[in-house]
Amino acid sequence: MLLNNVYFRLKPLIPRSIRLGVRRWFVLRKRRQVEDVWPIMPGSECAPNGWPGWPDGKKFALVLTHDVESEGGIENCRQLAELEQRLGFRSSFNFVPEGSYEVPAVLRAWLTDRGFEVGVHDLHHDGQLYSSREEFNRKAERINEVLKEWGAVGFRSGYMLRNLEWLKELDIAYDASTFDTDPFEPQPDGVNTIFPFWDQSSGKRKGHVELPYTMVQDSTLFLLLREKTIQLWKKKLDWVAGHQGMVLLNVHPDYIDFSDSNGSSQRYPIARYRELLDYVLDSYDGSFWHALPREVAAYCATFKPEHSHRASAGRSVIIGNTPKCPSWLAWASLLEAAASR
Ligand SMILES: [Zn+2]
Repeated sequence: MLLNNVYFRLKPLIPRSIRLGVRRWFVLRKRRQVEDVWPIMPGSECAPNGWPGWPDGKKFALVLTHDVESEGGIENCRQLAELEQRLGFRSSFNFVPEGSYEVPAVLRAWLTDRGFEVGVHDLHHDGQLYSSREEFNRKAERINEVLKEWGAVGFRSGYMLRNLEWLKELDIAYDASTFDTDPFEPQPDGVNTIFPFWDQSSGKRKGHVELPYTMVQDSTLFLLLREKTIQLWKKKLDWVAGHQGMVLLNVHPDYIDFSDSNGSSQRYPIARYRELLDYVLDSYDGSFWHALPREVAAYCATFKPEHSHRASAGRSVIIGNTPKCPSWLAWASLLEAAASR
């Protein structure tokens, strides 16, 4: 965490051109190193002990989430929601309460009136949320106020940074800052499961459900790896569905190009997301539980599934932020993550 703290304090001083320059080189290098643990982590398909399956006997769960990073993202929220609604989907939109943009109350109401969910995304989105316990506790009080004001029950940290112990200070039903496997994140250790799990509090808080994202983020797929197709999305979705897990995707409205163009280095065509939604409907219609994250959390809170730790620990060390991981690689990882957001 120390490295992260230093980096995020220096980040505003690093020219964007340098951050972007390191991008391609780092991603291609790291992708080769992690191909046996990403996008599929062997062992992560093991269901928790006593797992009862999904409601109504559905084969797998499908959860759509969106982190809104900037003013540009705010401007795209309605179009994105309308597309999903036309196809029969609903999703959650996570907003930064005190970041680089204002969160319009009318937009939140517009979303919730239509059956979408609103969640809290960090507080300032500056990479400093976990810089010290004292600082976190202070910010947690503010986050709890926002949760209450917005009627939200879900949280996700900026840059997927996390400390599950500290997160227990939040009045949440679920956190979504974890992932099964995503070595391209600044804090790259995954939770190695494609199922939700209960994180019990040791203190006064009641505990919460962890909802790891299990699909490759759009920013990683299209902006960092520069994939031109959704083959990786289809492959992972088929794998998670085949093991009856939770397909949880994070798509950023900020990076979507709604025009008919082929996108740019910073935005990808909406047609790719649309293709994924069509693919789910064409391949699995009627066999999955399409739920909002708050609905998955409410379901899991009734039986509190254990975290399944059966994935290979030895493999996860390779991508972890451990002494075996050279510091230059960790720095490159941070540069990479920042360059894409
Ligand atoms: Zn974010």
